[in-house]
Amino acid sequence: MKRFNLPPLPYSYDALEPVISKRIMELHHDKHHAAYVKGANAAVEKLEKFAKGELEIDVRAVMRDLSFHLNGHILHTLFWPNLAPPSEDNKPGGRIGDLIDKQFGSFENFKKVFTTASNTLEGVGWAILYVDPEDNLYILQVEKHNLNHPASLVPILVSDLWEHSYYLQYENRRAEYVENFWKVINWDEVEKRLEKKEPVNPP
Ligand code: MN
Repeated sequence: MKRFNLPPLPYSYDALEPVISKRIMELHHDKHHAAYVKGANAAVEKLEKFAKGELEIDVRAVMRDLSFHLNGHILHTLFWPNLAPPSEDNKPGGRIGDLIDKQFGSFENFKKVFTTASNTLEGVGWAILYVDPEDNLYILQVEKHNLNHPASLVPILVSDLWEHSYYLQYENRRAEYVENFWKVINWDEVEKRLEKKEPVNPP
């Protein structure tokens, strides 16, 4: 079975300042994301040994572990290139901009739904923009890393709402982090994912 690796950040740790601090990025990438990679590999290893009759395991628990850590790995792999150095007037253009206008009425309407999804998420998880093969857009909340994912839609924009993404800097002010998040979205990357509609291939 496959083993997973931590991909490097596609920019420097301080590239997203002042929206997201260097220290948050160091911990988030080097510790949190790395832990999901390690957890996914550990689960895969146990399942491999179980298959060969070398280890007795609680299959349900290990598969739940794999689902959690592998989705954590996949979502963080999507998250880093989803971000870019901040700009104040950061808006989607191209096809994604047109689809948002057409399906939500305006970028402001879209922003309202995504922001509300982000702010009302209970506990830890993600707000995610997905696309289907016919270019229909969906905004959904994913709990933890692995609950409530649609089975086949392609995620094109993911927002990490775990406290480890913002707490060091924003403390309990999640809404402020969510508002500032709009400044660091890499819409070119979202456009690319919309064009390709490829499932994520976790490194
Ligand atoms: Mn995270």
